Amino acid sequence: MLDARIESALNKQINYEFAAAYNYLATAAYFERQNLTGFAHWMYTQRTEEEDHAMRLYRYVIDRGGKVELGAIAKPVIAPGSIREVFVKALDMERENTKGIYDLYSLANDLKDYATMSHLKWFLDEQVEEEKIMEEVIGLMDFAGADKGALLTLNRQFGERAKAQA
Ligand code: MG
Repeated sequence: MLDARIESALNKQINYEFAAAYNYLATAAYFERQNLTGFAHWMYTQRTEEEDHAMRLYRYVIDRGGKVELGAIAKPVIAPGSIREVFVKALDMERENTKGIYDLYSLANDLKDYATMSHLKWFLDEQVEEEKIMEEVIGLMDFAGADKGALLTLNRQFGERAKAQA
């Protein structure tokens, strides 16, 4: 049986993962409008991953005999400005997400909920990967700077990577 505090924290994290998916979807739409379909496809892949994270936690709550409670998702805000800024905002979101996982892990540790800690291990590793990828992307954006040709090359590469992952 899940401790009510763990159940509530897991539901909060489910909401966070779905909010991240929704944000990535809004970002994909933003890139579609600029005909940057490579970046858009990359964002669709991110969105699918976040939904998968949410569903892993959702399934876990049910498997532990807990109650899933889905909350409201806030309207996504797209950072106006450069393509780079959109990715910086995505990195901020991933870092917040990591913090949420850490808080959850720490609570599970305090309550000696070893099963939840074990389930969260996958998320700890996944967040390392998510942040690493986003940092690499921002590094590439820095390299490209205001060079539109370089950004178009990145757009094409991102589209290919998204296709390879699908
Ligand atoms: Mg996630």
